[in-house]
Amino acid sequence: MMGDVREERDVTRLPRDDRAGHGTGGSDAPCLPHLSHSGGVPESDWARAVELIRSADEIALACHVSPDGDALGSMLAAGLAMRALGKRVVASFGDRRFEVPRLLRFLPGQELLVEPARYPEAPALMITFDASTSARLGLLGDSAAKAAELIVVDHHPSNSGFGTMALIDPGAAATAMLVEELIDRLGVPLDRDIATGLYAGLVTDTGSFRHSSTSPAAHAMAARLVATGLRTDEIARELWDRSPFGYLKVLGAALERVHLEPEAAGGLGLVWTYVPRVDRAAYGLPYDEVEGMIDIVRRTDEAEVAIVLKEDDEGAWQVSTRSKGAVDVARVCAALGGGGHVRAAGFTSHRPVAETMADIRALLTPA
Ligand code: AMP
Ligand code: MN
Ligand code: MN
Repeated sequence: MMGDVREERDVTRLPRDDRAGHGTGGSDAPCLPHLSHSGGVPESDWARAVELIRSADEIALACHVSPDGDALGSMLAAGLAMRALGKRVVASFGDRRFEVPRLLRFLPGQELLVEPARYPEAPALMITFDASTSARLGLLGDSAAKAAELIVVDHHPSNSGFGTMALIDPGAAATAMLVEELIDRLGVPLDRDIATGLYAGLVTDTGSFRHSSTSPAAHAMAARLVATGLRTDEIARELWDRSPFGYLKVLGAALERVHLEPEAAGGLGLVWTYVPRVDRAAYGLPYDEVEGMIDIVRRTDEAEVAIVLKEDDEGAWQVSTRSKGAVDVARVCAALGGGGHVRAAGFTSHRPVAETMADIRALLTPA
């Protein structure tokens, strides 16, 4: 809990905590929107989650497979906070090839990570981050099914409702926003390492504060995080502004074969391309290096919907879809076995590119 005395220039001390009496703060202090940004999680659920965590000796954390900045950043930040409370913490994600994506290796707290094979089979308390279904836990799905208590921390509107209790707020821009509140409620102060994980989650899921999810609460949270002394320039460079040379060549090949279909999506337009694994193999480029390619393709003015199909090392196609708001791509991806958000969603396909694209086209209709 934060004290009432707030120094004017220290944003870590700016109001974040009126949960004891919403809107009754009565302070003249400069006011950033408080932490409980949307009231998406009932007070009783927060209290129960805090109690479960406080009374646990060991806590097993998991995030979704092929972790992004929000999944891994949220999980490691939570792990560091729980370790600060004296808990034994293990953290993992259930990919067959257990490797932290290169662009997330700067995240503090990686010493908490264990391979899926060393993960507790039936944890007393397990907490998942940014996973909308238990299938998204991959190899850790069995542990989740056997966990005595399973707290699901997530912000996907499509969350399937697994777990024994949920801290889910579809209004939150990132799972990291829920984790910041959880950490605060646990009474652990933000330090730079914890803040770095949370910041990675926040900037990943808001597209650096560009996406429609960028609420005042997201900016207010950023202010608290940056005030811990983290290096926003270094984090941005790690996340977006570097790659091996081979990336440029693989990107070049993907852009060579990009298609524009103005008639698709009810005439709103579709732009798409694909990245076969042989392209990456030629340059020894790991799969996770091409995850952000959708952000280049989606800029196309003539297309409402953008799609990049990326063949992973197992030969499955990971399909990234984006819309500008008129088409609900979460609906399209859910119909094809995946999920996500209205403007950013995905699914996995085991069929050839042409067939997958035909499936998508048939589903693409304006909302
Ligand atoms: P991506 O295109 O990989 O950045 O994913 C965009 C969003 O789609 C993610 O935030 C997830 O919510 C969702 N998503 C991606 N892949 C899958 C999948 N295989 N199953 C369910 N949801 C997914
Ligand atoms: Mn995610
Ligand atoms: Mn997320």
